[in-house]
Order: sequence, then structure tokens, then C-alpha cells
Amino acid sequence: MFPDLAEQLRKREQQGLLRRRRILQSPQASHITIDGCGYLAFCSNDYLGLANHPQLIEAACEGTIRYGVGAGASHLINGHSAAHHDLEQALAGFTGFPQALLFSTGYMANIGAVTALVGREDAIFADKLNHASLNDAALLSRARFIRYPHLDLKTLENRLASTKARRKLVISDAVFSMEGDSAPIPELLALCEQYQAVLLLDDAHGFGVLGKQGRGSLFQTDSPSNHSPNLVYMATLGKAAGVFGAFVAAQLDVIETVIQSARSYIYTTATPPLLAHTLLTSLQLIGQDEWRREALQRHIAQLRQGLRSLPWQLLSSETPIQPLLIGSSAEAVRISEQLRERGILVPAIRPPTVPQGTARLRISLSATHRPEDIQRLVESLHELAAS
Ligand SMILES: *Cc1c(COP(=O)(O)O)cnc(C)c1O
Repeated sequence: MFPDLAEQLRKREQQGLLRRRRILQSPQASHITIDGCGYLAFCSNDYLGLANHPQLIEAACEGTIRYGVGAGASHLINGHSAAHHDLEQALAGFTGFPQALLFSTGYMANIGAVTALVGREDAIFADKLNHASLNDAALLSRARFIRYPHLDLKTLENRLASTKARRKLVISDAVFSMEGDSAPIPELLALCEQYQAVLLLDDAHGFGVLGKQGRGSLFQTDSPSNHSPNLVYMATLGKAAGVFGAFVAAQLDVIETVIQSARSYIYTTATPPLLAHTLLTSLQLIGQDEWRREALQRHIAQLRQGLRSLPWQLLSSETPIQPLLIGSSAEAVRISEQLRERGILVPAIRPPTVPQGTARLRISLSATHRPEDIQRLVESLHELAAS
């Protein structure tokens, strides 16, 4: 063992930065069991409440019987099953792109897409608050990595105008995972077209939740320019879709390039086909169950109304990610802890995940919360604010 590991861990613990995993004993849901205790939870990305849906459980059983449990090989060897193929076609159709490519996780999709599309002679322009997987992808690509302040398109434009890089790739979360706010997609795309850049949009938190039939952030407006050839779209299937996995959708040549050269696609076992089979049903539920998105919108409105008069600021967000800005890390942890004592789970998010001095409670809403669940959280936060 490296002799400094114990010392490092001890320091981490002293600073209150040691992270511990709680053991979940129930399926993921708005009401869960941890260590034998029941909790009302506001901490999953299961926005539509599909992770434990009976129809998806049934589809998973059916998929298991049809395909077995493991893919047994990578996609390019012999692991690309009919279920993967059908899902890719369904995803392309659902998101309006010529082709979609399935990855095992969103982390791997971002690593794969970015490293396949840019290299040493190229430049990446990235929003400062992008997801960690996009930053890791940028570093791994060896392209010049230029980060611009959150949503600051003026700075982005200046950087795009002054670069001499061969290829220019702009990368942004569509919905920012710790803020809940959204990237201005039409403006980003217009900039990319003006400067011959490609935009990679990570819609992990918009897919299933936003836009017509939950088709994602690109479908929030009817503008056809949202499907520009300069766009590479990525979304995950383990959040609103309730299962596991991710995909990249784009023009045929982009997808073919990713298939040929993305190492996180080539050198890994294909995701179990039973999951792809399950996701076909998940896509149907996403498209048809408008009531889930309507319920989310009502929960968002109820929460925002209820928390208006708190001493802490609720960041402006129209998505199920509703961050309550506390400021100090110790205070955020204390409030999260006090909520837990009352049977409510809301995670405290601290630096370095978010900028210094902006520790927050990240409240995540799900369609399967009930109005009385939201009310209970609102009342508890008011009591804690007054104490
Ligand atoms: C969750 C997330 C990912 C990673 O997706 P996984 O499938 O969990 O690996 C990528 N980008 C964003 C913005 C995310 O929130």
C-alpha cells in the first residue's frame, strides 16, 4: 500500500469531505428504505419514476428470456444484438437524427464521442459548469481545452473567432446538472455555424423530461434549425428513461467515425441486450405518458411557490433539478443532516463539485412524488430556517 493513503483519507475526513455510500434496500423510488428506515427521497435522477415500473420489469424479464443476461462480446466482435439495433433505430427516430449509437454509460459516450471527433490539432470550447465526464473527455482527447464562463456566449464567440485550430468542438450540457438551468441551444448552434464549429450537446437531464413527448431539449421549440448538421446530441438512459446506458445521435458520418474510433465503444463489452430490450418499452412510456411530465411541472411550481420566502435562494430552474443555494459547505451539510433526521433525503452538494461558496441542497423531483411529499419538504425547510 502507498504509505500516504491513510494520512490523505484522514485529512479528507477531518475536512468533512469523506463521502460514504448509503445502502439502499428498496428499488429506486420517491419513498425508499435505507438501513431499515423509510425515507422520502429527493435525490434520484429517476425523474419520470420509471426505474421500478412494472411494465419495464416485465420487459426486462422478457428480454432476459430472449437474449440471456450478458452480451458476451464487444459490439464490433459479436456482441451487437438485434435488441441493440432496434433500440438505436428507435432512438434515432425519437430524437430526429439519421443515426444513433448506443453506449454502456453516459460517461463512456462522452469520452468516446469527444475523443473520436477531435485530437491534438483541434480545440474544445466548454462551459465551465459542464459535467465531469465532458471535462475528462476533453483532457483525454489532447485537444486544446478552453473553458468559458457559464453561459457566457460573448466570451465563447471571442474564443471561437481567435482560434487557429483545425476542428472546433463546442461542448455544453443542455440542462446543467448542479444548477438546473439550460443552455441557449439556438444561439449556441448559430455561433457554431458561423464559426464552422460542431456543437456536442449533453442532454442527460433533458431527455424524457423536456420537449414534446419528452423528446428532449431540442424539442422545446419547433425550430428545425435545432437539428443542424453541426450538432452532435448525447443523452443518457439511466436517468428519466429509468434503465441504464446512453446514446449519441448525429449525422451518419459522425456516427460512423465514432464507431470506428471511439475506444470506450470498441474496447468494452456490449451492454446486456436485455437492457436495450427494456429501453424499447421505456421509450414508449416516455412518449405516451404525458401525465408524468405534467406531474413534474406541478411539483416544480408547488416547490418554488412553497420555498419563495426562505432565507436561502432557490436557483432559477424550470427543470426537476431545483438547487437551494446555502453558501457554506458546513451549513449545507447541517441542513441536509437535519432533513435526514426528519426522514427526508436531500443531498448537500459541495465544492469541488460546485464553485467555492455555493454549496447547495440539490432537490430532485420525480413524477411519482405526491403533492403531500412536496408539502412535507417545504414545511421541514421552513422549520429548519426558523430554528
Ligand atoms: C449523469 C450524467 C452523465 C453520465 O451518464 P451516466 O450514464 O450516468 O454515466 C453525463 N453527463 C451528464 C450531464 C450527466 O448528468
